[in-house]
Amino acid sequence: MIQKTSSGQYIFPRLQKFSNIIHAISTVDFGDMNIKRAENVSNIKRYAEEVGVSYNKMIFMQQEHTNKTKEVHVEKKYVYKKVDSLVTTKKVALNVATADCVPIIFFDPTTKTIAVAHSGWRGTYKNIAKNVLRRFSGRGIDVQNVIVALGPAIRSCCYSIDRKRACMFSKKYPKWKEGFLLEKDNTFFINLPSLIKKQLQESGIKEENIDDANICTYDSQDFFSFRKQQNRDHTKVFITSIGLI
Ligand SMILES: [Zn+2]
Repeated sequence: MIQKTSSGQYIFPRLQKFSNIIHAISTVDFGDMNIKRAENVSNIKRYAEEVGVSYNKMIFMQQEHTNKTKEVHVEKKYVYKKVDSLVTTKKVALNVATADCVPIIFFDPTTKTIAVAHSGWRGTYKNIAKNVLRRFSGRGIDVQNVIVALGPAIRSCCYSIDRKRACMFSKKYPKWKEGFLLEKDNTFFINLPSLIKKQLQESGIKEENIDDANICTYDSQDFFSFRKQQNRDHTKVFITSIGLI
């Protein structure tokens, strides 16, 4: 569940109680957050100010629908290339940009480790969440205490896929397919958040430690949706952020 704040961004109420982190999700009101376009800098700066994080500590990714993850060792604004997840204990804000794909944020309250991941259909198929949690385990973190939140994404109500892709997924994840694949009037619909929750639990995350925004980007007026946008060469995106302060 997420809530809109008076300054316009969304938050997960359960993460709000931790005083050593900031987190938020931007909306269409802040404008496009695509870092590739220079004119968006002012949008990102305004959002950073509202969220309470220095623009100079904002870390981004040039996302490529991989399942690759990297560790962040710098404490200044930076863009990581060819990566779809970042993990850190540095005092920075990690950002994941999406418009229908599933943005995921991770927080371990014990070691104060944070992570973000971009899990669209390709990243989910390749189980990027598992790679993030491998990094956590590699740092000696007990993932049982880790809190994970899934941001707004296109959901099965609006996410039709072709038979070929449906077959790919049902072959790779046969034991969960009833939960995330639906067939209606010869069309397949996929529920990525549902599959991601299974992947997270298989990697050791407790069910009660998973939060879900439960908002469909295609239906919502507050978030950008790739499928809904006419100009797909210039897809507008929103960002989901988590930072250590
Ligand atoms: Zn929908």
